[in-house]
Amino acid sequence: MLKERVEYLKSELNKHNYNYYVLDNPTISDYEYDMLFSELKDIEETNPELKTQDSPTQRVGSISTGFEEYKHKYRLYSLDNSYNAEDLKKWYERAIKEYGKSDLELVCELKIDGLAIALNYQNGIFTTGVTRGNGIIGENITQNLKTVKAIPLKLFENVDIDVRGEIYMPVSSFNKLNEESSQKNEKIFANPRNAAAGSLRQLDSTITAKRDLSMFTYTVILPDGNNTIKTHWDSIQYIKKLGFKTNPNIRLVKNIEEAIDFCKEWETKRFDLDYATDGVVIKINDFAAQNELGFTARAPKWATAFKFPPEEISTKLESIEIGVGKTGAITPVANLTPVLLAGSTVARASLHNFDEIERLDVRIGDNVFIKKAAEIIPKVVKVVDDEQHYKRPKYIPPTCCPICHAPLEYREGEVAAYCSNEDCPAVLKAKLEYWVSKEGMDIDFIGPSVIEQLYNLDMVKTPADFYKLSQQDFMMLDLVKEKSAFNMYNSIQLSKNRPLSKFITALSIRHVGKETADILVNELSTLENIKNANIEKLSNIEGVGEKIAQSIYEFFRSKKTECMLEELEKLGVIPQEGTSKQSDELLGLTFVLTGTLQSMTRDDAGAKIKEMGGKTSSSVSKKTSFVIAGENPGSKFDKASALGVKILNEEEFLNLIKNK
Ligand code: NAD
Repeated sequence: MLKERVEYLKSELNKHNYNYYVLDNPTISDYEYDMLFSELKDIEETNPELKTQDSPTQRVGSISTGFEEYKHKYRLYSLDNSYNAEDLKKWYERAIKEYGKSDLELVCELKIDGLAIALNYQNGIFTTGVTRGNGIIGENITQNLKTVKAIPLKLFENVDIDVRGEIYMPVSSFNKLNEESSQKNEKIFANPRNAAAGSLRQLDSTITAKRDLSMFTYTVILPDGNNTIKTHWDSIQYIKKLGFKTNPNIRLVKNIEEAIDFCKEWETKRFDLDYATDGVVIKINDFAAQNELGFTARAPKWATAFKFPPEEISTKLESIEIGVGKTGAITPVANLTPVLLAGSTVARASLHNFDEIERLDVRIGDNVFIKKAAEIIPKVVKVVDDEQHYKRPKYIPPTCCPICHAPLEYREGEVAAYCSNEDCPAVLKAKLEYWVSKEGMDIDFIGPSVIEQLYNLDMVKTPADFYKLSQQDFMMLDLVKEKSAFNMYNSIQLSKNRPLSKFITALSIRHVGKETADILVNELSTLENIKNANIEKLSNIEGVGEKIAQSIYEFFRSKKTECMLEELEKLGVIPQEGTSKQSDELLGLTFVLTGTLQSMTRDDAGAKIKEMGGKTSSSVSKKTSFVIAGENPGSKFDKASALGVKILNEEEFLNLIKNK
C-alpha cells in the first residue's frame, strides 16, 4: 500500500515538475504541490527503504529545451520548506546542535516567487546568465538577461564573481500583460512567476525586452582569496556596493524567535508589495557554520523556506455556467469576478454538482469564498454571509441539457446529473476533444475551436471523420492558411499508429481513463482480446472493478462502436499493440540503466529506449549492448566493466539518442 502511494506521489510530482519547470504551465497550486512533496518526504523519512535516488525529493527542478545547455560551475540547490513555527524551531535546533552552538544569528529575506538565475562576471563585465535548470545543468539565456535592466552589465569594481538571484515580474506588469494578451486573444499566464519564466525563455530576445522583468540578487560566490567577508549579511552589503539590486526587506536576527516574528509580520504585509513572494527564506548568517552544515541531495541544511499559508479569497459570483462533459455529466461552474488567489488569477471555480449548490445555497450575485483545492480549478467553499444574499432568488437547477435540451437524468448512486441524449452535440464535441488530447491520440494543432468549426460544418462527427479530411478541407476553416492546414492534416496522419493504451483511452469509454487503459493493455495485449473479453474476465483484472468491466463490455457490444472501429481500421488507424515502439533506431540493442540520471528518470530513459526500438534489461550480461551509468551507479557498473560491456555516461547516452 505504502509502496504504491510512494510510486503515485513520485509520478504525480514528476508530472507537475514538468508542467511547472518545462511548460511554465502548472496545473495545481504550489501549496498542493508542496503537500504532495512533504507527504512523500515524510514517508521516505520513516521508511528509508522506500527512498530511491530518482525520487523528486532528491533532486532539483528540471531542464527545459530550446536553449543551449550550460553546466554550472557551482551547483544550484533548492530549499527545504517549513510551514509553521514548530517546523522552524525544529530546523534551527537541529542546525545549532549539529554545529555545537547554543544559538546562531539568522538572516531573514523574502522568498521571491520567480525564477532562479546564476550570473557570471569577468573583470566586472557580465558574461553569462543561466537558469537553475536541474541545479547542475541550466539553459544559457545570456542574451535575454541582457535586456533586464536590474542586471548590471558592468559592475562598480572589476571583479570575477558569480551571483544568484530571482528574476520576477511585478504584479502590476503581470496584470497589464495579461489584460493586453487577453484583448489580443494571446496566452494568459497563470501567475507572475510563469509570466516571468515564459518571458525569459523567449527565443527572440526582443520579446523579452518588451516584458517588464526585474531581479533581486540574494547570493554571491565570493572571488577566490576573499577572506574578509565572513557572513551572509556582509556579502549582501558587498553585492549592493557592486551595483546589484537586492531586496530591502531583509533582517539580521539573533535567534529563531525573532525570525518567526519576521515571518508573521510579512504574512499580511506581503499583500502590499508589487511582486509575488511565497514565503521567507531564513539563512544561517555565519559562513563557517554554513560550510560545516553543508547540503542534502537537494537543499542546504543551513537555510529553510518558510512558506506562507495558501490564500482563501472572496469574490463575486457573476453567473453559473453549465458544462457538459464527454460522459454527458453536467458540471456547474462559477464564473467569477477575476481575483488573484495563491499567485494565480482565478475567474472560474468548480461548483461540482447541483447538490453542492444547494448545500452551499449559492445565489447569483453572491460574494463567495474560493479556495485552491486538489482539483485543477479552485472550488467555491462558502458564501459570504451578508443581508443581500437573502434578497437574491435561490438558484433553480435546469431540468434540460443547456445544449440539446434533452431532459437531464440522475443515475443510481451518483450525484451528478447527465444529459440523457447520447448524441448531444456537447458530448460528441467533448469526445472529439478528448480524442485529440495529449492523453488520447495526441494530435497537435487541433484544439476546441477547430473541432467546433469542423463539427458545425458537418465535417467531423466521430473520431473516424478526422482521418477522412484532406489538407484542402482544413482551408475551409477560419484563418487557416496552407501551412497550418498542412500541420493539422499531418498530425492527424501521424496519430494513426499510437500505442493501444492511448487508443483505448481516446475512445472515451465510461470510467476508463489512462490508468485503466494501461492496465487493460498490459493484461490483454491486443484490441481483439479487449473487445472479446467477457465481464468476468474483465472484472478479474486487478484495478478493473465490476462497474468498469460492465462499462467496457457494453461499450464493445454496441453497434455504434463496432461501426466506428471498423471505419477506423479501414482508414488505417491501427494502434500499436503491446509495445510503445515508434522507430527502429535502437533496434537490436539492449540497455541496462544504473545510478541516478540528472535530466530524466530511469523510467523515462527506459521508455525512450523502447520508443526507439531498443530493449531494456535489469541485469547485465554479455548480450547487453550498453550500460547507462548515472550518478552513484550500483553493482551493474562493476559487472559491465568486468564483462567489457560498453558503459555510457548520461551525456553520451543523450548524444546517442539525439544523433539517431
Ligand atoms: P522553492 O521555490 O521552494 O525554493 C527554492 C528557490 O527559492 C530557489 O531556487 C530560489 O529560486 C528561490 N528564492 C527566492 N527568494 C530567495 C532568497 N531570498 N534566497 C534564496 N532563494 C530564494 O524550490 P524550487 O525547487 O524552486 O521549487 C519548488 C517549489 O516550486 C515547490 O515547493 C512548489 O511551491 C513549486 N512547484 C510547483 C509546482 C506546481 O505544479 N504548482 C510544480 C513544481 C514546483
